[in-house]
Amino acid sequence: MAAGPGAAAAYRGRFAPSPTGLLHAGSLVAALASWLDARAHRGAWLVRIEDVDTPRCVAGADHAILDQLQRLGLVADEAPWWQSRRGDAYAAALQALQAAGAVYPCGCTRKQIEAALAAAGHPPERFGELVYPGTCRQGLNGKPARAWRVRCGTEAQPLHIGWHDRRLGDAHQDLTHEVGDFIVRRADGLWAYQLAVVVDDAAQRISDVVRGEDLADNTPRQIHLQRLLGLPTPRYLHTPLVLAPDGHKLSKQNGAAPLALGAPGEVLQALRQAGQALGLPPLAAAHRDAWLAEATAAWARIHGLA
Ligand code: GLU
Repeated sequence: MAAGPGAAAAYRGRFAPSPTGLLHAGSLVAALASWLDARAHRGAWLVRIEDVDTPRCVAGADHAILDQLQRLGLVADEAPWWQSRRGDAYAAALQALQAAGAVYPCGCTRKQIEAALAAAGHPPERFGELVYPGTCRQGLNGKPARAWRVRCGTEAQPLHIGWHDRRLGDAHQDLTHEVGDFIVRRADGLWAYQLAVVVDDAAQRISDVVRGEDLADNTPRQIHLQRLLGLPTPRYLHTPLVLAPDGHKLSKQNGAAPLALGAPGEVLQALRQAGQALGLPPLAAAHRDAWLAEATAAWARIHGLA
């Protein structure tokens, strides 16, 4: 298969599950898409366990996910990484941001942020996250430092980030007004997803991020951090979400069942369902590896890589 137009010289993709539970029908879609895209590009596919948000992690879920991936035939080309072992790299990145004056310590509690936003008459939140009003930009005012935040433009010079998604097309975000100065190190001392993902995508030389559409909104924050840290921006493809009967994204919170992969036929059934969500045509193969090979060819055709 020849590399398609725009194919990177060294394609490297990844699947980056948070071990907050087992894979379900929704998370398999992202896993399968990233695997298919890597195979269709004849590139490498990596698995990274994103276990920085330790209070949300479930003991043993990391190895259980790796076992599920193995049963599905989605096996990484390199040893998996665990973000919980990468603290030194995140600390170095924070130091670089501090040295550049791109971040500042914030002493606000959530209550104080809500009160400041209410006083200013702003809508309180976006996807459950508050748009920080910038209270500690000029200094802590005697408050103890809690979190570290990244500066995202000013009223006079808002920060606009434009980017291209291979499936969703061109997109744009006004980070100043839509997101606000966001956290890279949390008040509880944990590393924020945004920082960890940017540092690791660069350290693993990821050329293509393929992940669920619910994460598309994070991309401009990650591009902002990449630019501040002098790191390359990978290409992005956000996959369709599987919806629960209530119309929301299928997730553990609304009862997504862990994939059952023990009985004969269950692996193929799970792959077929994920393939359908990705817009693959019905495939004739009756065995896992044959199905994966057919699916790779179909993915390459659909994405103009064949
Ligand atoms: N760990 C994130 C999740 O499970 C995915 C991060 C990413 O793919 O960038 O939602």
